[in-house]
Amino acid sequence: MANEKDWKVKYFNSLKQLEDMETTWYKLEKLLRKAISRLAISAKGINDQLDQLLQKIQKNSREKNDDALDLNLEELSTLLSKMDSTEPVQLAAETANAPGFHDYLLQLINQLEFDTDYKSRIEDFKTHITDLDSDQCLSNLADILNELLLHEPSDKISIQQLLISLIEKIALTHGSSQQLNAIQEKLDSTFIDEEWSTYLDEIISEIHTIIRGINHEKIEMESLIVDVTRQLNEISNVLTDEQSDTQEGRKDAQLLQNLMNESVENIQSQVSLENDINKLKHSIKDNLDSIKTGVSSFITRDNQRYQKAEQRNNKLQQQIKSMEQESDQLQQKLSENRQKLMFDTLTGVRSRLSYDEVLEQELLRWSRYQDDFSFAILDIDHFKRVNDQFGHNAGDKALQIVAKMMSKNIRKTDFLFRIGGEEFVLLLPKTNLQSAQPLVEKIRTSVSSSSFHFKQEKVDISLSAGLTAIIAGDDTESIYERADKALYDAKNGGRNQLVVQ
Ligand code: GH3
Ligand code: MG
Ligand code: MG
Repeated sequence: MANEKDWKVKYFNSLKQLEDMETTWYKLEKLLRKAISRLAISAKGINDQLDQLLQKIQKNSREKNDDALDLNLEELSTLLSKMDSTEPVQLAAETANAPGFHDYLLQLINQLEFDTDYKSRIEDFKTHITDLDSDQCLSNLADILNELLLHEPSDKISIQQLLISLIEKIALTHGSSQQLNAIQEKLDSTFIDEEWSTYLDEIISEIHTIIRGINHEKIEMESLIVDVTRQLNEISNVLTDEQSDTQEGRKDAQLLQNLMNESVENIQSQVSLENDINKLKHSIKDNLDSIKTGVSSFITRDNQRYQKAEQRNNKLQQQIKSMEQESDQLQQKLSENRQKLMFDTLTGVRSRLSYDEVLEQELLRWSRYQDDFSFAILDIDHFKRVNDQFGHNAGDKALQIVAKMMSKNIRKTDFLFRIGGEEFVLLLPKTNLQSAQPLVEKIRTSVSSSSFHFKQEKVDISLSAGLTAIIAGDDTESIYERADKALYDAKNGGRNQLVVQ
């Protein structure tokens, strides 16, 4: 029986050992599952794939799917070894201090160069970057970059456009010239950015020509004025001569009179004193001779004075005549210059200078007589495109045609000015808004419905307009600003329309 007892003891011992081992295993398993879930938490965020796998491991360990867990663990070891060779796996503590998405994005933004127009937007974005999640950050940045990429080329003025607008400005104030037209055509057709300085040189040399022209005119005017002044001096000298001759004549006549008085007195006294008739005869004869000599020398001098006076008269007449001619020339030149300045050479309508004068005049009239007037700004739509698509010459032709259409639709008492490149002002005296509106509307529709062609190609042209009427307290700026605001609304509203303010 001792054997049987031994066997029982052995059996219970091994049962106890097994139970002990099970408890140990159970403890170990719990510890392992706990470790798995800690690992999953601490490794979260290092790598997406790792995250997903750890979640699976956590789930399978919780649900005790040991087969699946086995596979997961194999996957984990492959993934970890792969990660090990590519990027260092960071520990949870380090991850918190390492640069994150926002830092990298800021670094990127700081390395980009933005134009001044975009700088403030980017700064604004940078200050709010941490309030946004990664998706929002990227989409905001993409918005800014898209805008920049899409609009930058058209918004930014190219050297070519800058040079063209320089020429336009010169042409607007001084009129176009063959030389300017030639430079403009070259700029339109064969411009290369690198050659901008050559074009600028040509424009500058044209400006010099204009300045020389102005100087030449100035010198001409000056010499005309010097000439007129010289002639006036001469006339004044002639008149002085005349005066001194007249004084001399008077003196001469006085001397003659004195001589005659003296001789007559002599004769009288001789007659009463002299008894010798012969002596008396001689004495009277001597006195009469001296009178005769005095008179004849007076007549000679007087004749000389008369001739001199006549010569002076002739000279004076000639001088006055030539002065009249010169002052006529001067007047004509001045009025030609005025005409040049008051009218735009390209379109023939009134100029910017005339605009300043007439608007002042109309405002003055309003303050005196409360004479209402309306004021409209008309601006051709997308005119830059017309130039870009069809060339500057086509643009110029379009400007001329549009100006003609406008002129055709207004009354003789209305004023039309070209105050900028493709910007016109219509000033309608004695016209209130109700009457002005249909008139401006008519101009707008006639322009947009016209079929303008350039070299057989149809060019669509329309204009936007802002209309207003004079109100109390207006000055040249306030009335313009109001119409300009209306024009701005018309452009924003889709163009080819009139807005009344
Ligand atoms: P919007 O509809 O906003 O008015 O656009 P836009 O293109 O008409 O306006 P923007 O002011 O941007 O451009 C005006 C253009 O008019 C640019 C300039 O080259 C052109 N221009 C100005 N003066 C002249 C000129 O005398 N002749 C020609 N051909 N073009 C001119
Ligand atoms: Mg325009
Ligand atoms: Mg404009």
